[in-house]
Amino acid sequence: MKRFAAAIALLVVALVGVMVARTLRVSAPPAATAAPSAALPPLDTTALALHLAEAVRFPTVSLASGGPIDTAAFRGLHDYLQSTYPLVHTTLSREVVGGLSLLYTWRGRDTTLAPIVIMGHFDVVPVTESNLAEWLHPPFAGEIADGYVWGRGTLDDKATVVAALEAVEGLLRAGVVPARTIYLTFGHDEEVGGRYGARTIVNELVARGVAPALVIDEGGFMGKDILPGIEGIAAIVGIAEKGYVSLTLTAEADGGHSSMPTERTAIGALSRAVARLEADPFPASLDGPTATMIQAMAPYQPFLQRVISSNLWITSGVVSRALQADELGGALLRTTTAPTMLSAGIKDNVLPPEATAGVNFRIRPGETVASVMARVTEVVDDPRVRVAPLDSVGVDPSPVSDTSDPAYKLIASTIAAMSPGTTVPVIPYLVMGGTDAKYWGPHSARVYRFLPIPLGDGDRARVHGVNERVAVGDFATAVGFFMRLLQGDAAL
Ligand SMILES: [Zn+2]
Repeated sequence: MKRFAAAIALLVVALVGVMVARTLRVSAPPAATAAPSAALPPLDTTALALHLAEAVRFPTVSLASGGPIDTAAFRGLHDYLQSTYPLVHTTLSREVVGGLSLLYTWRGRDTTLAPIVIMGHFDVVPVTESNLAEWLHPPFAGEIADGYVWGRGTLDDKATVVAALEAVEGLLRAGVVPARTIYLTFGHDEEVGGRYGARTIVNELVARGVAPALVIDEGGFMGKDILPGIEGIAAIVGIAEKGYVSLTLTAEADGGHSSMPTERTAIGALSRAVARLEADPFPASLDGPTATMIQAMAPYQPFLQRVISSNLWITSGVVSRALQADELGGALLRTTTAPTMLSAGIKDNVLPPEATAGVNFRIRPGETVASVMARVTEVVDDPRVRVAPLDSVGVDPSPVSDTSDPAYKLIASTIAAMSPGTTVPVIPYLVMGGTDAKYWGPHSARVYRFLPIPLGDGDRARVHGVNERVAVGDFATAVGFFMRLLQGDAAL
């Protein structure tokens, strides 16, 4: 017995030794080498803010219903960009693609080098009428007050569009000619899936033989205390995005009069199907981009957390359970199941022959639209409940981009250069929502998602919410980010 206890003790000591060794191996935060700092052309912070504010005044709204859009607003914005960025519009070629999206080409000195693609979108989500009173400044007035530019699109995603154009205009003014070709691609329908804008642009570029060294789109961001165990500012860069599919469940039964109900009713069968899906969620799995994220956080965490984060080979169960304590953590680990629509019946005394539910799934890397459908059918386990795609929008999760790729390193070093003197942890992560970048998925492994704007408390809720705004100084930082990124391209 004594010998057994000694063996166990020895094992525990060995285990702790291995864990500490692994922890120490990651204990030094990777040196935050800033991108080689070519002097930036001077930025006129006030003028930049004014340009963003003016861009906000065009109500380029995409409607989820697919309803008609205000094409005059989109064309008005096109014209506004044309008059505001004269050097861009005389030096770069500009094409209108997919109806109202824009594709700019800045030809590089050496066309044999792989190009850079900067993506953004200038459509915005609508403003809910009932929330209008809560806006401190009207959403499409483009007002500048209290150090902020206010309005719909100031973060999502006119900030990217205007910042990228400002950066290129500034570089052109400074006489810069890029080594490699740079594409600016701005979608007009990202908020409704990007099927006409980004998809057409990506297909067009692929048809032209474009194989980018770096694609950057919205998605990640920087902010204070956004990651557990990491104090202060950190940046998260999307290396993958979840897939998306909505399924319709249609339960059938014999209809009839409600005075003599059948044993099986459509509504009852449908309710059982939805309840089964909720009771049997998709399996959680700590792997792929989320495991990469946890491991990348380790060097910046306090010792105990670092031990846990750098030893996922043994701690993944604990970490996985901790993550599942809230919705965000759970969504990082599994394909999510969200019943969102329900319809059945036309009259209180008539048994409907059919009842339907819409269920939305966000698919984690490793699963597909097809595997989700197969599992749903299996869990529902009712041959008289049909499972079919709600529409043709289903999309598989994106491939996972590599954090050891020079493109990722360039983004990380450019982030480091944004905050000289401070170490900003740059952490890769899985983007939950969809972005236009998904259309590059089948064609490029160098796709990253990052909005170079520090988000403060509550800013994330302002995106698609009320009082969306960006600090004047932060917007200038975003312009500087794109300038540095384009000037650091020798690292690719
Ligand atoms: Zn967006």
